[in-house]
Amino acid sequence: MDFSDTQAEANFRETARAWIADHAPTHLAEPLSQSGFGSTRTGDFDPLEEAKKWQKTKANAGWACLQWPKEYGGRGATAIENVIWSQEEGVYGKLSGTFIIGQGMCAPTMMAFASEDQKRRYLPKLASGEEIWCQLFSEPHGGSDLAGLRTRAVKDGDEWVVNGQKIWTSGAHYSDFGILITRTDPDVAKHRGLTMFFLDMKSQGIDIRPIKQANGDSGFNEVFFDNVRIPDAQRLGEVGDGWKVALTTLMNERLAIGERPPPGFEEAFALAKEIELEDGLAIDDGGVREKLADWYVNGRGVTLTRFRSMTALSRGADPGPENSIGKAITGKMRQDIAAFGMDLMDAAGAIADADNAPMRALFQEALLSAPSGRIAGGTDEILRNIIAERVLGLPQDIRVDKGIPFSELAKKEQG
Ligand SMILES: Cc1cc2nc3c(=O)[nH]c(=O)nc-3n(C[C@H](O)[C@H](O)[C@H](O)COP(=O)(O)OP(=O)(O)OC[C@H]3O[C@@H](n4cnc5c(N)ncnc54)[C@H](O)[C@@H]3O)c2cc1C
Repeated sequence: MDFSDTQAEANFRETARAWIADHAPTHLAEPLSQSGFGSTRTGDFDPLEEAKKWQKTKANAGWACLQWPKEYGGRGATAIENVIWSQEEGVYGKLSGTFIIGQGMCAPTMMAFASEDQKRRYLPKLASGEEIWCQLFSEPHGGSDLAGLRTRAVKDGDEWVVNGQKIWTSGAHYSDFGILITRTDPDVAKHRGLTMFFLDMKSQGIDIRPIKQANGDSGFNEVFFDNVRIPDAQRLGEVGDGWKVALTTLMNERLAIGERPPPGFEEAFALAKEIELEDGLAIDDGGVREKLADWYVNGRGVTLTRFRSMTALSRGADPGPENSIGKAITGKMRQDIAAFGMDLMDAAGAIADADNAPMRALFQEALLSAPSGRIAGGTDEILRNIIAERVLGLPQDIRVDKGIPFSELAKKEQG
């Protein structure tokens, strides 16, 4: 692979760089550069407001969702141009985290299954950040086993009536729309009786309750549905085909959250250069250097694997199961680096003062946030199952419920 720019790519990079220099919110560069490994460090700015402002500025100039077609709010750019843009956007790209679910998961699902009118109505506002979307998949009875979900949708004339509960819905409390997977036929095997919709999060009958996380944030929610009505026109895919639609979302999810750049190496490297151990700087210790080298190699591996995926996408392929590799590696890496940082700091790691000891606080935040990264978007075990079965072609996990009608399974579970 040759990673140097062609002349056309170099020109594109120059144009992007000049535009960013003129328009980026430079006053946020410093706090943004210190965020991301731990939870987002916001200083005194409102991350949601700033994210929306930056997204709108980009959209107005044709720099939002670069690879999307122009008529849906994108630029019609190539995959490589998209990579160049991300490199040039640098720390300001961290503001886009708010939009990952909408732009990276809901939008590809809408592009594949919504009507042309709907795409033209919803996608440009998704691209510009004016409307935020969430993903209503997981339930108390359907996380890793998503097809075990119980939220029911029953047809009533031209509408569907939805009752049930979702959980861990990131950003539901500030989202305008969401994609929702429901059970429409309990009397067939669990993967067959599902149907997908999109809906207005302000619909009557929706109750959103934030959940507090270990790191103090409330990024996700419980969402309750009490006779919520959704027009049939907002169905995505055929009735009973929801699993197929969900796979489109999930494959894009793993691509979108596969971490770029891989987390924590720079922070660990900086810490090792600063911390004094008994016999000198941590960076001069053989054990420390070995760990740093391992993380660097893993990080580069993830980046290059991602480039391979982007190349395949640019040649018209759909995102595939190999995109599970990125998160499977980086989720654990983030947690290992956070724990390593706390070990290196020893008793000084107890200081929790983001203003006076920003490096200490960063590793503490990372330690509390990292476990969720190994669960969200598929747990480590599920990602390994996917890689084993669908990338390496190993035998399937044992599935005792295969082919059994969902209603029978639910009865058995109730005993
Ligand atoms: C920060 C965060 C944000 C999230 N955001 C969203 C969101 O926006 N929308 C949404 O719909 N969901 C969201 N989720 C939910 C997430 O997708 C689920 O938590 C995840 O899929 C795991 O499901 P579960 O919590 O029900 O755990 P379970 O499925 O109950 O798993 C429990 C344990 O069993 C293991 N396990 C389960 N099945 C197997 C198997 N077949 N083989 C081996 N081990 C297995 C799991 O690995 C795990 O260790 C989010 C979660 C987090 C942490």
